[in-house]
Amino acid sequence: MMHILEDSVAQKYSQTALDHCDELAQVSELEEGILRQYLTSKHKAGNQLVEKWMQQEGLKTWQDQAGNQWGRLPCKDPDAPSLILGSHLDTVPNAGAYDGILGVMLGLELMKIAKANQLALPFHLDLVGFVDEEGTRFATTLIGSSAIAGSFNSQWLEVKDRDGVTMADAMQQFGLEPSEVINATLDPEKVLAYWEVHIEQGPVLEAKDLQVGVVTAIAGAKRAVISYTGITGHAGTSPMNLRKDSLAAIAELTLAIETIALNCTHQEVATVGKISAKPGATNVIAGYSEMTLDARAQNDQDLEVLLNKIVDKAKLIAEKRELLLTWKWTHQAEAVQCDQNIQDLLATACEENNLPVFHLASGAGHDGMAVAKICPIGMLFIRSPGGVSHHPSESVMKDDVTQALKVMYSALSSYAV
Ligand SMILES: [Zn+2]
Repeated sequence: MMHILEDSVAQKYSQTALDHCDELAQVSELEEGILRQYLTSKHKAGNQLVEKWMQQEGLKTWQDQAGNQWGRLPCKDPDAPSLILGSHLDTVPNAGAYDGILGVMLGLELMKIAKANQLALPFHLDLVGFVDEEGTRFATTLIGSSAIAGSFNSQWLEVKDRDGVTMADAMQQFGLEPSEVINATLDPEKVLAYWEVHIEQGPVLEAKDLQVGVVTAIAGAKRAVISYTGITGHAGTSPMNLRKDSLAAIAELTLAIETIALNCTHQEVATVGKISAKPGATNVIAGYSEMTLDARAQNDQDLEVLLNKIVDKAKLIAEKRELLLTWKWTHQAEAVQCDQNIQDLLATACEENNLPVFHLASGAGHDGMAVAKICPIGMLFIRSPGGVSHHPSESVMKDDVTQALKVMYSALSSYAV
């Protein structure tokens, strides 16, 4: 049986979550705008503020060996496993106030509601504020969530920030012991699942006039640098039919990639974000040009199909234009599926709250990608007005936040004994 929260009650809690986001936005490395990077004094101040709010609600709190902030609402059985709620507390430079942070603050409100309603759950409720999901300081993403999943890579400790400070040194300055990060790893036997609420950061829910959506998967991504080599020549003396123009080939492939992705039917996306040509002069035919490719899909199979089409097209263009094609893969992240049972539970909770059920994939990466190594994960997206994120004008609508909280509470209440 799912409990339904009254709108008026839920609104009080969602307002508190939004107020907390605004207050946390003041904890910033920038005079104007939001920035909270890993292992900085503002990371520490942010954790302390969140810990204070957790303690005000009577949660048991701790910071783990990677710097993640935790709070627990225990159940009666001390040996019970836990359901983890949360998201990340770090930000990109000049960030919005809600990316990540809102998920943590809604987790806290969910625990408050569970406590106020004396929801008897057969598991502990753990709330986590992850460090460094964004990878702003060390260009390494998902550090906090990788640490709890046992996939923290010790080579990351040697990575330097812009000022030449290694992660290991920064940890020591922060008060963490680099050799102990491994101890942040959780025992999979002790973790039931991970639930995260996050803003969509895209325009899909808004376009469909929906407040929330159930996430099916976090998209897999592959990136490449593709180049064509032809012959550099004089723009005036080389007849059109005798040219080996690498830039024209890049242009042709760019448009072809757009068409190929547009014709895919499972929310696949492909982007050419950067093009450069050499020698790069107005009156010279470019002998060498390169482009970047970023392709994403909900599952690895769809991604492979998309990429095969792009590779075939790239080869065809090279043949036709008699150019040398080179292809270098630079990044790969496998798609991560959200657990079907959690998806069903969230969908039912939407229905119970008279909200249309809508499923969508996440094109952006999230902590759940790392956490999925130790437990089933589920995510609920909240509409992003204008699809805007990673920007000061990132926003949410209060009633959307209220509905998300209601959905999460209904889902949680189904476990009450
Ligand atoms: Zn985020």
